[in-house]
Amino acid sequence: MDFDIVDGTLSDGAPDGPIETRWDRHRFDLKLVNPANKRKYKVIMVGTGLGGGAAAASLAELGYDVLNFCIQDSPRRAHSVAAQGGINAAKNYPNDGDSVWRLFYDTVKGGDFRSRESNVYRLAQCSANIIDQCVAQGVPFAREYGGTLANRSFGGAQVSRTFYARGQTGQQLLLGAYSSLMRQVASGKVTMMPRREMLDVVLVDGHAKGIICRNLVTGELERYAADAVCLATGGYSTVYFLSTNAVNSNATAAWRAHKRGAFFANPSFMQIHPTCIPLQGSAQSKLTLMSESLRNDGRIWVPKKKADDRRPKDIPEDERDYFLERRYPSFGNLVPRDVASRAAKQICDEGFGVGPTGLAVYLDFAEAIGRLGHENVEQKYGNLFEMYREITDESPYETPMRIYPAPHYTMGGLWVDYNLQTTIPGLHALGESNFSDHGANRLGASALMQGLCDGYFVIPYTIGNYLADQTPDSVSTEDEAFDAAEANVRDSVDRLLAVKGERTPRDFHWDLGRTLWDNVGMSRNPEGIMESVGHIRKLREEFWQNVRVVGSGDTMNKALEYAGRVADYLELGELIAIDAYNRDESCGCHLRTDHQSEEGEALRRDDEFSYVSAWEYTGDLGRPRLNREKLDFENVHLAVRNYK
Ligand SMILES: Cc1cc2nc3c(=O)[nH]c(=O)nc-3n(C[C@H](O)[C@H](O)[C@H](O)COP(=O)(O)OP(=O)(O)OC[C@H]3O[C@@H](n4cnc5c(N)ncnc54)[C@H](O)[C@@H]3O)c2cc1C
Repeated sequence: MDFDIVDGTLSDGAPDGPIETRWDRHRFDLKLVNPANKRKYKVIMVGTGLGGGAAAASLAELGYDVLNFCIQDSPRRAHSVAAQGGINAAKNYPNDGDSVWRLFYDTVKGGDFRSRESNVYRLAQCSANIIDQCVAQGVPFAREYGGTLANRSFGGAQVSRTFYARGQTGQQLLLGAYSSLMRQVASGKVTMMPRREMLDVVLVDGHAKGIICRNLVTGELERYAADAVCLATGGYSTVYFLSTNAVNSNATAAWRAHKRGAFFANPSFMQIHPTCIPLQGSAQSKLTLMSESLRNDGRIWVPKKKADDRRPKDIPEDERDYFLERRYPSFGNLVPRDVASRAAKQICDEGFGVGPTGLAVYLDFAEAIGRLGHENVEQKYGNLFEMYREITDESPYETPMRIYPAPHYTMGGLWVDYNLQTTIPGLHALGESNFSDHGANRLGASALMQGLCDGYFVIPYTIGNYLADQTPDSVSTEDEAFDAAEANVRDSVDRLLAVKGERTPRDFHWDLGRTLWDNVGMSRNPEGIMESVGHIRKLREEFWQNVRVVGSGDTMNKALEYAGRVADYLELGELIAIDAYNRDESCGCHLRTDHQSEEGEALRRDDEFSYVSAWEYTGDLGRPRLNREKLDFENVHLAVRNYK
């Protein structure tokens, strides 16, 4: 594999000294924009999910003018609406031993020591404020009888710190952010730009000063200028074709920013969620998540006998293997996602899987229903059970769910410093689109926490530090940089339409997804990864000779939108594989079969790989440059993760 390595050029920008005061000291050191001057600055916010929606509302509340873009017809349709189980915060309401320090510790450990301590500590510190902010907006979190907010447990923690609104937490949080956003739309501080797809970022003198969008209704290319640009465009696990993400989720904005100079960090850190409804057939376009909250009460098991085709209720207790409880007695069914996913894969690979394909394990609520009663279980998980029943035609009240791991979340993303600024000055990345605070594995209920932390509590401070040095409104869309960027987008649209081949974009996407799933999925090895790189290169070549994009560019054209996203995935897919190849260790989600213990646990190589891989585009997809940001662990000492 060809790539150059550069060390020591990336600084996280966080202050040194006691971790507890870093964020306070940093905020004091950040430059401020005078309140009266804020209205002179315009910020482009691409994305209206929990990251972008929260940020757009907060920046407008501060006085900035905000242009807020999304590909859907309404900001409320951002993928965040699908989040189910909950959001973490170190409030310690159950009085069970939680603290900022414990949330920090659990997150660094859960991420298998591949995240930045300073960022994670700030996230834990801000977590309590997020809950207060959302309650003030009217988010209807579940409550105890006495009125206090209720908590439940998620994987990788031995305390209950997850706040939730049944199985619809994302929807309720998004409605909260949306109401704040609409207040700003009404006051004229936010201009909503729905059904626009950002297809390029415009750089003037090396700074991000605008974007080029395709109007998804008229097909026109549009130019927007601003003093700074933020991307909150979500994750890219649909690169695997089948994932729990919305079909519209994509990497296009982040990838095109990467090609303009923003480094892409840890692209192969991909979370495979253990509890999803298994694949039913090749016509399926997505997979459905069954929330991790179900692991609070559901027990995961397989028959002790291989290929046992008896109905689950006919298999007696002593012929069942509750393999997570057996292997990890301390955490049991609440081990982190990477550990649970690998254990399920392993047991199915050994022939103990259930269902028609043998690629599933049971998630059983019989014991919980006996203990808590049908009504209580329904109150907690009713909507998830109903969703499962609608899809499979089986009732989880009567028969165990069948579940299997599926791509779900991307810890990788655009590299950002402590201010959430990418390597392009003025270009910031928030929420799942940045490489985030989760290292090599995200703990459940921590994505919503991070997205809202970035949007409500980090970017409102840090963007001022950038803007304070900028002359407001200094760039117009007449600038020649806009001409060049628009021509670039027009050229890529025209090229897609001109191929007129035989294979659909979906077919290429499926093929890409299969090779990534097989070789850069739950477990990886160098030979398989190399095979994938070769396959992706061939696929990309064929794509540009044989893709069939129907319709034209000057109107609404879903096939064209999709083809552009698949074209980007065919490039990002190669970088994912290269990153997985370079990381010659196992860590978190990244299990290399050449680095595992006899029991199949991940073996890290801290001496060599305790760094963030930040990839730089060189103009040659096959030869990216690797910038290594060294990670220091001063507060949580490097140790082998142990959930036994
Ligand atoms: C089924 C499911 C359940 C989940 N449950 C939980 C949970 O319980 N707890 C938890 O913490 N996390 C959960 N997650 C993860 C969490 O939902 C996401 O990580 C988070 O919502 C991402 O928010 P975001 O704002 O970064 O991006 P998104 O919500 O994905 O928003 C992306 C935005 O960017 C816009 N956009 C994208 N590309 C472009 C473009 N090129 N041009 C213009 N606009 C663009 C979109 O229109 C959208 O507005 C879940 C994820 C899934 C898939």
